[in-house]
Amino acid sequence: MRGQFFCKGCGGPITGVIEVESLKDPSVKRPSLKLQQPVAPCGSGYKSRYKSYDPGGWSKQKATDPEPTYWLNPDDVKPYSKYIKGRCIGCCGIAGLDGPNHQCAKCGAEIGTEESDCYTPYIFITESRNIEFEREDR
Ligand SMILES: [Zn+2]
Repeated sequence: MRGQFFCKGCGGPITGVIEVESLKDPSVKRPSLKLQQPVAPCGSGYKSRYKSYDPGGWSKQKATDPEPTYWLNPDDVKPYSKYIKGRCIGCCGIAGLDGPNHQCAKCGAEIGTEESDCYTPYIFITESRNIEFEREDR
């Protein structure tokens, strides 16, 4: 499905057009999740029912969150967002351990968490309560 992500706070875009594949679909190739590699090329991403790509990791308690989340390339979000100060701690990049670290550049709503450290893939995990995906291929 093809569409664009918007901020629920102000209605402004937080990505350009993205081709999203659902991980519920068994025919979809799993993301590689290699360390220091983008989870998806720019302009593409995944819909997941997990808050974290690592079901045993820090956000395990949220793994059954009924809201779907999206896994994007952080570079698709950066033109529309600002970092949240104090939540960008990491080793070589951003670990993402301090909760959402990107906010909407226009209204400040927390839109998701970037992980881009030496021991993580390069990934942006959406904060589903504050974003919406608008399909353009329906
Ligand atoms: Zn906003």
